[in-house]
Amino acid sequence: MNETVEINHPNRPPSPYDVIISGAGPVGLFLACELALAKCSVLVLEKAPNPHSPLKQLPFGIRGLSAPTIEALHRRDLFGDLEIHKRLKNPHTNTGQGANRQVGHFAGIPFREGDIDTSRWHNRLPSSPETSLMSEMQEMETLLSHRAESRDVEIKRGFPVTSFEQSAEGVTVQSGDHTFQSKWLVGCDGSRSVVRKAGGFEFAGTEPDFTGYTTRLELADPEKLGSGRNLTAHGMYLQSQPGYVIIQDFDGGAFHDSGQPITLEHLQEVLRRISETDVTVTALHIATTWTDRARQATTYRNGRVLLAGDAAHIHSPLGGQGLNLGIGDAMNLGWKLAATIKGIAPEGLLDSYQTERHPIGAQVLDWSRAQVAIMKPDPAARALNAILRDILETRDGATYFAARVWGISTHYNLGGTHPLRGHSAPNFEFEDGTTLAEKMHDGRGILLDFEGASALKTLASQYPQLTCISGTPKQSLGLSAALIRPDGIIAYATDNSPDIQEFHEALTQWFVPVTRH
Ligand SMILES: Cc1cc2nc3c(=O)[nH]c(=O)nc-3n(C[C@H](O)[C@H](O)[C@H](O)COP(=O)(O)OP(=O)(O)OC[C@H]3O[C@@H](n4cnc5c(N)ncnc54)[C@H](O)[C@@H]3O)c2cc1C
Repeated sequence: MNETVEINHPNRPPSPYDVIISGAGPVGLFLACELALAKCSVLVLEKAPNPHSPLKQLPFGIRGLSAPTIEALHRRDLFGDLEIHKRLKNPHTNTGQGANRQVGHFAGIPFREGDIDTSRWHNRLPSSPETSLMSEMQEMETLLSHRAESRDVEIKRGFPVTSFEQSAEGVTVQSGDHTFQSKWLVGCDGSRSVVRKAGGFEFAGTEPDFTGYTTRLELADPEKLGSGRNLTAHGMYLQSQPGYVIIQDFDGGAFHDSGQPITLEHLQEVLRRISETDVTVTALHIATTWTDRARQATTYRNGRVLLAGDAAHIHSPLGGQGLNLGIGDAMNLGWKLAATIKGIAPEGLLDSYQTERHPIGAQVLDWSRAQVAIMKPDPAARALNAILRDILETRDGATYFAARVWGISTHYNLGGTHPLRGHSAPNFEFEDGTTLAEKMHDGRGILLDFEGASALKTLASQYPQLTCISGTPKQSLGLSAALIRPDGIIAYATDNSPDIQEFHEALTQWFVPVTRH
């Protein structure tokens, strides 16, 4: 689609907001921060009047963050304000020691630190941030809300998006009796997204195999349950810590979809059946259900309406990837939508959001389907599970699975021959001790010129969205120059004398020179 649509129609007053975001979850808030960083005016409409919920707090609100999310937080100077991860233990890393330490899992099958060959990961450096850590939804949302508001984002809570209409000039958004105007609307309103439904987006995928339960309860006889993750003839249960039980009941998702309340009696019946014990539940404090339904919007854009996060894709939380996927969407979309609004987007920039993010979403959906396939309580699944268990104990297996689970292997197909093109930029450390991530706080693109290639700098100086960084880093990984997009993705890289033509093509694919402003 062409991005040169006239944004302000001559006969209409200018729209008051550049972008309305539906949903103040982590994805909507991260996107709001990105847009505001690029000086766009943003209104976030959030259905819930109160930002606090027990389901967002520990332990229910625990979310595993993977490398691309952790990098994004560093690149936008958000990481330092997160505290809770320092005292959170990853439930998958609390057994074993040293090289034998479990550092992640696939369908509950652990992989161990000592089996992972990190030397194969070409974009990692000693100065790279963690590959994974635990976080809390509540803390993340609070931090992002504060950052967004400090950049003049307006957040209206208790204002659900109920409908909208779009025209060639903008979008009129309805929240009950309230009407808001914007140039663009982004649905970040979660798995039941009103924007997705009202926008006519097709949501294609597969139906669930199970209902998952996350519960806080009291048991008369907790010793009857096994420790850790237990695959049984009927499903799976896990006592993550005393009083906190997760269950997978392979009922085809029937209970979750029925909308019935989760009573103590029901939960006891499910837990007894799955655990094959006569364990007794004496109190049920809180419980929520979920499924492995896996669906993805077939397109992420319809005119002036876009989708990101769970609004664009849903899948089971196995392996904890949904939040990471959504933050990746927001990091990818933010600078592209901002450039489109500011009239400095090359042809096709906004549509590259769909081209790049849709395949990544599809991969995550398949990753969760693959896990469900080997957790099913049937002999074929058990047989596959045993084979996978052997593979994860090998060096190749552990390295592959860790790279997938931690998002190390996530990349876009940007053409070119350099192996780093399309990957997240290594966090180079410079002589003064600063790192690349610290140079990216302002959300601009970066030319890294490690060998004084003046022709590159001359060309790049015509692009006001770029910062040039010269000088040699402590470790260059053999690179002589690289072009890095605002989202931290390498658009061009070379180990040799730069090919000016190739560099110019990369520049014009992502940025617009000053002469066209
Ligand atoms: C049990 C469980 C464990 C998980 N663990 C992990 C994990 O370890 N790692 C990971 O990466 N992911 C995990 N996830 C997934 C992750 O929580 C979601 O992918 C993530 O919250 C999606 O963020 P979002 O902002 O897109 O949507 P949400 O967090 O759902 O936020 C959407 C927001 O939109 C609001 N809203 C809804 N409708 C409207 C409307 N009509 N108008 C305005 N606002 C509206 C909602 O109130 C909400 O605030 C887990 C999920 C579950 C259920």
